[in-house]
Amino acid sequence: MGKNKNQADDFVKQITKKSDDFSKWYIDVIKKAELADYSPMKGMMVIRPYGYEIWELMREYLDKMFKDTGHRNAYFPLFIPESFLKKEAEHVEGFAPEVAWVTQGGNEELEEKLAIRPTSEAIICSMYAKWVNSWRDLPILINQWANVVRWEKVTRPFLRTTEFLWQEGHTVHATYDEAEEETLKILDIYKTFSENYLAIPVISGLKPESEKFAGALKTYCIEALMADGRALQAGTTHNLGQNFSKAFNIRFENRNQELEYGWGTSWGVSTRLVGGLIMTHGDDSGLIVPPRVAPLQAVIVPISRGDWKETVLPDAEAVFSQLKDNGFRAYLDDRDTYTPGWKFSEWEMKGVPVRIEIGPKDIEKGQVVLVNRINREKTFVKREELIPTLEKLLEDIQSRLFQRALEAREANTHEAFGYDELVETIENKRGLVKAGWCEGNPCEVKVKEKVAATIRIVMDEKDPRFKKCSVCGKDAKHTVLFAKAY
Ligand SMILES: [Zn+2]
Repeated sequence: MGKNKNQADDFVKQITKKSDDFSKWYIDVIKKAELADYSPMKGMMVIRPYGYEIWELMREYLDKMFKDTGHRNAYFPLFIPESFLKKEAEHVEGFAPEVAWVTQGGNEELEEKLAIRPTSEAIICSMYAKWVNSWRDLPILINQWANVVRWEKVTRPFLRTTEFLWQEGHTVHATYDEAEEETLKILDIYKTFSENYLAIPVISGLKPESEKFAGALKTYCIEALMADGRALQAGTTHNLGQNFSKAFNIRFENRNQELEYGWGTSWGVSTRLVGGLIMTHGDDSGLIVPPRVAPLQAVIVPISRGDWKETVLPDAEAVFSQLKDNGFRAYLDDRDTYTPGWKFSEWEMKGVPVRIEIGPKDIEKGQVVLVNRINREKTFVKREELIPTLEKLLEDIQSRLFQRALEAREANTHEAFGYDELVETIENKRGLVKAGWCEGNPCEVKVKEKVAATIRIVMDEKDPRFKKCSVCGKDAKHTVLFAKAY
């Protein structure tokens, strides 16, 4: 029989309040909204259908953006021979602590142990060495959608898991400038994707030496600020220079018939973006999914009283068909084991952007009720106006989510001109803290040891007000953003 109103309230009460305990709220939302679950293996999660559908939509849009800029997909092996991983010295040093190894195949011990890819530069570059001979073979623009394994000590669903899903692009170019152009082009794709589809505002820029990818010349990233004041690195692009080409002997004959090493890039975003989406937009009632990546953009809940199956359901079904015919991702919740109130709570929990209510009175008036997930605002709309109104409401929700997140980031971006001010701001206010930096690693280490914050971004443009390093007081070479990070 139907669940009553109190049970519906309980449904939401089962989530910890976001303001009480952000970490616990995050885990509660993931479990209650059925995005993911813990698996028997520590640090490995199961992505459930609803969470996976969000990832699939992300993948679909990103894949199109990559293909529109000339990239093609391919697939490389999961295993990397140890000797390959060791070819680029910095690379192996950076990844060694996180690599999982296969030492046995069937009953036989392997002559050479195999790494389960933590990233695929080593295997992909070994193939590029075979495929690249002349300048005519360049550029190589390949992307791979795959899983990777990094043996993490501390894990958190979507944000840091031992195995995760991602895309990794690997390209080779004839010149440094072309590789740099590629690195920045992808950075721009990541920023556009994050802001226009996920409604997550990001700052893009260079990482300091200490935070760059192992083996890269330069690492750029997009960085977002989460609702608890911690930064999230949401995507990275690397200009690899000739480091991997030299290690793997990727050489080509240039137009002057001289042999030259290729110029490489690599870049990736992962299922971590799902975590970023949850933390950026969710509230005390659960998840809020931006309409463009919402597996369900609207859910229809018929008001199920009395003989509703005869009186209300046929109209609800007509509305459902209308939505499907117009390309919306919609669902008709015609379960008769739950009350409308229960269903409202459940779909709010799952973050569906718009709920469409339809009851006997609405049918009399030829209308439906649209309810906005952000503020529960109701719009009464004539049936013939439903499609354009819903379209507009979804666009409004998409842009309001972005605007709201942008305002939150601005409110949580601070400035610090001296060391005491820097440390105190990071400790007490959290968020992003703008500061001057002399480019010295000791200054980074000092802040990291004191308050566990790092330089998230070296800003493209130096802010002239930050004349001195906010840590040591010497002349500042850059303006940077410090933050505690995921
Ligand atoms: Zn300094």
